[in-house]
Formats: sequence, C-alpha cells, structure tokens
Amino acid sequence: MAAETGDSIRVAVTGAGGRMGREVIEAASDRDDCEVSLAVNRSPVDPVAGVEVADAADLPALLAGADPAVDVLVDFTGPDSSVEYVAAAAGAGVACVVGTTGFDDEQEAAIADAADAVPVLRASNFSRGIAALRRAVSAAAAALPGYDVEVTETHHNGKVDAPSGTALTLLDDIEEARPDLDERVHGREGDAPRTDGEIGVHARRAGDIAGEHEVLMAGDENVLELTHRAGSRRVFAAGALDAAAWLAGRDAGAYDFTEVLE
Ligand code: NAD
Repeated sequence: MAAETGDSIRVAVTGAGGRMGREVIEAASDRDDCEVSLAVNRSPVDPVAGVEVADAADLPALLAGADPAVDVLVDFTGPDSSVEYVAAAAGAGVACVVGTTGFDDEQEAAIADAADAVPVLRASNFSRGIAALRRAVSAAAAALPGYDVEVTETHHNGKVDAPSGTALTLLDDIEEARPDLDERVHGREGDAPRTDGEIGVHARRAGDIAGEHEVLMAGDENVLELTHRAGSRRVFAAGALDAAAWLAGRDAGAYDFTEVLE
C-alpha cells in the first residue's frame, strides 16, 4: 500500500554534498509530506539545511539500524555509487528513487535486480516540463515523417556524462516514433554531410546551466523547435520528492516517473 495522504515519509539522501543532494535536502525542508531522516556523502561535508551528513561507507548499517525505518532512498550521485547504494537499500527493504544518469548495461542490470526486492523508480529527468516535452516530441516525430531531427542538450561545466540521460530518453522516444532514424551521430567534424536515418546529437557544457534540451525537426521550408529549460535544479528535486512520496509503501518493482504524474 502506498503511504496514506497526510503521512510524512522518511527519506535518506545520498550524495548529500553534491548539487542535487543538497537541493533535495533543501526542498524537503520546505515540505510537510517528507523529512530527511538520513543523509550521507562519500567525503565529509557540513550539515545541509540543518541535516547532519554521515559517511556513505556506513550507509548499509545506518539503513538497517534506522528506527523508525527509512521509507525511501533518493539517489543523485554517480553510476558506481548508485548501484552500491541501491543494493544497500534493497538489502534493508528500503524503496529507491534514482535520478543518477550515465549507467552502462551491467549497472542498469544491477539496478533492475534491486527492483525484484524493493520498489525502484528511475527517471533521467524529474521535471514535469520534460515529461510534457517527451509527449510533444513523440507526437511531432510521428506527424513529420521524413524530417531531419537533431537533439541538442546544454548543461553546467561539471556534468560528467554526455549526452545527458534526458537526451538519451528523447532519442529513444524519437526512434520509437520514427523507426527509419536509426543512427545517432554525435557532433560533426570535417566532411560530414547528413545521411538518411541519422539523428544529430550535440552536447554543450558551460557555466552553471541546470539543463536545456532542444529537439529540432526540419523539412523543406518548415522547421519545428521544441525546447525545455530548467530554471534551477530545484525543479528536479521537487519531482524526485514527489516520486518518493508516491513510491513509499508500494510493492517491489520498477516504476517510471510518468506513473507519478498520471
Ligand atoms: P555532483 O557532482 O554535484 O554530485 C555528485 C554527488 O555524488 C557528490 O556528493 C559525490 O560525492 C557523489 N558521488 C559521485 N560519485 C561517487 C562515487 N563513486 N562514490 C560515492 N559518491 C559519489 O552531481 P549532480 O549535479 O548532483 O548530479 C548527480 C547525478 O544526478 C548525475 O548523474 C546527474 O546526471 C544526475 N541528475 C539527474 C537529474 C534528474 O532529474 N534525473 C537532474 C540533475 C542531475
């Protein structure tokens, strides 16, 4: 059973010293439906929004010993640590909301395994605007056969993985709606004329940009641009906490952010 309306869930935040970990803790401090009862980071950091941050190496013991128990772990870290933290949560019977991106196939499989034991909700992007963009992109791609499609994403200069997880999700959506587009071309250099079946993919890294995604569809004398800009990371933190509140108390399994929005 999902947590009843009015319940406040207990959340564990990993990567509490990172950009997103901090945002999640700060966003939770403004909400009545959740409280951060545990926060960890791999290196020592000062308290975040009044929450003490423990050593991430102690996470399995802290989850197992938490009384009252943690309801949901919220993870925005890196692929290696995310797999480790989700396994620790699964071992302690704690649900997981995973926002980390950049997993390889083996890491994807490890996260999927955890969903056999506990509820696991993953999203490459926790903003409602991107959920709407995905629907718009799928509809437009299906409505514009033969159009050239290019995807461009822009993020802050500290982002590790490229292209972004959100860009990869949009590419999957486009390829589903346009099966004739089956080759992802990452940037172009030198003699590189466009060929049929190609989707251009471009990743820009600059400053402190929270996240921008643009899908360009162009035919003859006819251009459609669909763009989403996240004004701050707060929007992702809010979506992840909405997901945590929705996920608490559900059956083990893999869940998607679109289910929360529906
Ligand atoms: P960041 O670099 O600011 O923070 C990363 C945190 O993870 C830090 O606390 C760091 O100590 C920890 N970490 C990283 N690798 C680790 C390891 N191997 N072991 C232990 N701890 C480790 O990054 P960020 O901007 O907060 O982004 C974190 C992740 O969230 C990235 O994968 C990013 O793409 C993703 N992200 C997802 C969304 C979404 O909506 N799903 C939004 C923003 C960012």
